[in-house]
Amino acid sequence: MHQYDYVIVGAGSAGSALANRLSESGKFTVCLLEAGGSDKKFWVQMPLGYGKVFHDPSVNWRYMTEPEPNLDNQSVYWPRGKVLGGSSSINAMVWVRGHKRDYEEWASVAPGWDWNNVQKIFNRIENWDGTSDVSRGMNGPQAVHGFAGINVTTRNGLLSLQGGIGIMFKKYLIGLKIGMEHQMFHVA
Ligand SMILES: Cc1cc2nc3c(=O)[nH]c(=O)nc-3n(C[C@H](O)[C@H](O)[C@H](O)COP(=O)(O)OP(=O)(O)OC[C@H]3O[C@@H](n4cnc5c(N)ncnc54)[C@H](O)[C@@H]3O)c2cc1C
Repeated sequence: MHQYDYVIVGAGSAGSALANRLSESGKFTVCLLEAGGSDKKFWVQMPLGYGKVFHDPSVNWRYMTEPEPNLDNQSVYWPRGKVLGGSSSINAMVWVRGHKRDYEEWASVAPGWDWNNVQKIFNRIENWDGTSDVSRGMNGPQAVHGFAGINVTTRNGLLSLQGGIGIMFKKYLIGLKIGMEHQMFHVA
């Protein structure tokens, strides 16, 4: 029988990253167990094929929540990936860092989660394919792309509105204040 230094259950976002970090030095053996099958499927591999796998039982656990008292006791559909890569194999590939204030609030009960700390981690994760920028990581394992198909009419319309509605266009909403930006995506 094989023996391993570590056994990780679930080859989703967290499990896969953890298995990689533990095994990359070559010092430890790692067994990564996954309940789902291969991710080599057309709609999983295709960017934004997630609409097709949203209900697909071959890659999706298709959970329903318990009845929600605040939703008139309705159960809500709750997709989760059942496939190599887990939910990251069926997700929408949107890349958002989150709001600085949320991290600061977490840090008040969980030291270390303040924005200054997590910003460095985000930079280590990212492989941003845009122009060089100190606020973006350029050499990490996770490809991050800007939005490719910007509709100029829509953009100009939003730009003309921004003063009036008090929401400004920002260059990447990286933990900053409230604002608008074009969506970023992560594609393996
Ligand atoms: C439809 C959808 C769209 C999303 N869109 C985005 C987005 O655009 N951007 C974004 O940042 N996030 C998005 N998310 C959220 C993001 O994908 C998840 O937060 C993230 O993947 C969760 O990672 P995880 O490791 O916690 O769990 P998962 O990635 O779900 O991994 C859990 C793994 O464990 C496996 N597993 C469970 N039980 C067992 C068992 N008993 N034995 C073996 N294996 C088991 C599962 O099959 C699964 O592979 C989306 C999620 C969904 C479902």
